Amino acid sequence: MPFEFSFTADQEAFRDAVRAFLQKEVAPIVGEMDEREEFPRGTVHRMQEEGYFGVPVPEEYGGLGLGKVGYCILLEELGKVDASHGTIVGAHTSLGTTPLLYYGSEAQKKKWLVPAAKGEKLLAYSLTEPGSGSDSGAVHTTAEPDGDGWVLNGTKLYCTNGREADTVIVMAANNVKLGPNGGVTAFLVDTNLPGFRVGRCEKKMGLHGTSTAELILDHVRVGADAVLGEVGKGFHVAMTALDVGRVSLGAASLGGMEAATREAIEFSKNRTQFGLPISEYEVIQFKLADMAMKIHALRFMVYHAAARQDALGHDPTRWSRLERQDKTREAAIVKCLASEWASEVIDEALQIHGGLGYIRGTPIERAYRDARISEIFEGTNEIQRLVVSRDLLARGI
Ligand SMILES: Cc1cc2nc3c(=O)[nH]c(=O)nc-3n(C[C@H](O)[C@H](O)[C@H](O)COP(=O)(O)OP(=O)(O)OC[C@H]3O[C@@H](n4cnc5c(N)ncnc54)[C@H](O)[C@@H]3O)c2cc1C
Repeated sequence: MPFEFSFTADQEAFRDAVRAFLQKEVAPIVGEMDEREEFPRGTVHRMQEEGYFGVPVPEEYGGLGLGKVGYCILLEELGKVDASHGTIVGAHTSLGTTPLLYYGSEAQKKKWLVPAAKGEKLLAYSLTEPGSGSDSGAVHTTAEPDGDGWVLNGTKLYCTNGREADTVIVMAANNVKLGPNGGVTAFLVDTNLPGFRVGRCEKKMGLHGTSTAELILDHVRVGADAVLGEVGKGFHVAMTALDVGRVSLGAASLGGMEAATREAIEFSKNRTQFGLPISEYEVIQFKLADMAMKIHALRFMVYHAAARQDALGHDPTRWSRLERQDKTREAAIVKCLASEWASEVIDEALQIHGGLGYIRGTPIERAYRDARISEIFEGTNEIQRLVVSRDLLARGI
């Protein structure tokens, strides 16, 4: 791959269009959304109309065809304005449309991917269960063969978009004893099917615009066409989606860091103490410099990883073992550093705001609450370090 570290004119134009849209339509409602803890239906609908729920999906399947780089541009801009909107798009796109694009049959793409990419249907992804979080292969929701279909039973936890989704990609055990290697299958479960129910929706520290839902599957019958990928290979489907999600999470973190730093710069120039703007003090200047260094490094990391994923294409059968390993290691590195740097940068930005940073309703206070989850979801950072260290010990640096 050549060392091209610049965006095309089309990518820049897309960024400009997204930025203008978010400033006009999303920024004005975010404070109230956070306060009311409401899913932002109106702005999600407008984003669906603009095609923002299908950015990396090829045009032939109803998307904008802008690849992972275009998708990361969207997530970076969303990260600057609101993490809830970014998470809603991410759960739908990285975790919903990716498995369909990579593993779906042509019939499944027509039925589920096209309406999702066009913004007519919302997707969610459900791997986590009450007893299975980091140990995500230990799936206990069962899938029993039933004639030409399957019957699913179990309880899923913490599903983003779970309350609003039209279809959830549910990981269920076709054989509990086999575990992740042969025992887990990915199913496309339409939420209007008999036996599917949304249970408790969590109250959270941040991401107040998103739903985090318990899903109850009580004898939900799905057809044979609901199996996404091969029977027994669902864990692989789930992990491949997370490789995309972890890079886009990096892009959203990047946007959050940029917005917080911009706020901190402005505030430090305007806040006078001891007769000088606080930006004149070296302690504040060095904080800002450290923030900028992390942003600079992360920007290259995110877009490098996204460009490499684009170069790989969306047919997993064509990827070599080495390419898969590189992709997974790079995604884990991006996710882990991005989320920790975002927490650090936003924390410093809050510190620069002094007491005001702790006051409810300021953008920096919301950003601080919203950022913390990125160290936990899509695999905790301890798990990212396990992924990276295992690969290092097997293959070296
Ligand atoms: C807001 C929100 C949205 C979410 N959205 C989704 C979603 O859309 N779909 C979905 O499927 N899931 C979702 N999740 C679930 C999320 O991915 C899990 O919470 C996460 O993977 C951690 O699992 P856990 O909470 O069970 O923690 P646990 O696995 O119980 O971990 C507890 C602690 O132990 C550590 N730990 C565990 N095992 C090890 C080990 N081997 N070595 C070292 N440390 C270890 C963890 O790192 C963590 O610090 C969401 C969660 C939240 C809070």
